[in-house]
Amino acid sequence: MSKTFAINAGSSSLKFQLYAMPEEEILAKGAVERIGLNDSIFTLKFNGEKFELVEDIPNHKRAVEILFEQLEANHIVNDLSEITGVGHRVAAGGEIFKDSTVINEEVIEQIEALGDFAPLHNPAEAEVIRIMKEKLPQAHMVAVFDTSFHKTLPPVNFLYSLPYEYYTDFSVRKYGAHGTSHRYVSRRAAEMLGKNVEDLKIITCHLGNGASITAVDGGKSVDTSMGFTPLAGVQMGTRSGDIDVSILPFLMDKLNLKSIDEMINILNKKSGTLGISGVSSDMRNVEEAAAEGNERAQLALDMFNNRVQKYIGEYIAVMNGVDAIVFTAGIGENSPETRAAIMDGISWFGGTIDSEKNQTRDEAIISTDDSKIAILNIPTDEEVEIARDVERLK
Ligand code: ADP
Repeated sequence: MSKTFAINAGSSSLKFQLYAMPEEEILAKGAVERIGLNDSIFTLKFNGEKFELVEDIPNHKRAVEILFEQLEANHIVNDLSEITGVGHRVAAGGEIFKDSTVINEEVIEQIEALGDFAPLHNPAEAEVIRIMKEKLPQAHMVAVFDTSFHKTLPPVNFLYSLPYEYYTDFSVRKYGAHGTSHRYVSRRAAEMLGKNVEDLKIITCHLGNGASITAVDGGKSVDTSMGFTPLAGVQMGTRSGDIDVSILPFLMDKLNLKSIDEMINILNKKSGTLGISGVSSDMRNVEEAAAEGNERAQLALDMFNNRVQKYIGEYIAVMNGVDAIVFTAGIGENSPETRAAIMDGISWFGGTIDSEKNQTRDEAIISTDDSKIAILNIPTDEEVEIARDVERLK
């Protein structure tokens, strides 16, 4: 048995899951949140127990130290040398990383250099990789990129209609995100349907706080709704998704904003479901408010569903057909109402939800037996996919 970490580091957080591989048994999981702020929170779950520690954790180095101290104190590992593998989620792989990659010094430098594409994520991820390499010199480390599943996008779908030199000179193109999730659920959908993924056209809807839709043709991502950055695509918790960029200078003038960064911040943090509803970015709160008669909350729900429906329609056109539609992530997995509202509004395409089968949060085929398109609910599991990549690249 080898003990393998799946690590997901953000600018102020570090989530982890420790597996026994190849059994894929979860030995422990948890997170360090509010890194760099007061009252940082460390949580550790194992053997059905939950352990929490609140103290100031000034940086990622200290976060990793606390994690290792607690793993040993709770006898989840007796010695750090038992940890033989670490998979690191990395936000941006640019055009360099077309698959998960074994980490060496050059790879770390390339991840840092791609910081322009994910300023909040890549630098923190590179830093955590360095810290872990120092503490776990024996471990086999792999970087798993959020973008690499989308490497198969053809130019017709990844290029923006801008002067072509902006692509060749500056790598301006669509990269997409959530690739590990789209990869996992599309393969799992094929398994659940008893078919080869190579023979299927699938649309995967990752609907969480961040949301993206992907067209997976024959197991390959051929188009995806996020763009150069995760700001594009459908309406999200706080992100606008697609808008006409001419609105930006107009609004900067009206709001008297001095820098484009302030404008982008509004699009990233104050827009989307939060901006429309005025209630919350959290879908549960917005659903509650709508049920109580809040019209803007209802409008936010309607707009979210509408944007997802439009992308489904677009990707049926991109692939010239669809065999299966998959719902996943926080909203996709947990909100039967959202799944039903989205599918019922585009029933002309031939996908029919079975209202009883739809009452689930678990893995299930939720379409009627005679539905032309199979509709599936599949809880995503990016962590296991990361741990599997560590094994695959041994
Ligand atoms: P991320 O990983 O992008 O932060 P998640 O995949 O955890 O996000 O999804 C978070 C979203 O899922 C939130 O909007 C939350 O309200 C929503 N969600 C979770 N449970 C439910 C539920 N029972 N009904 C509706 N939405 C839910």
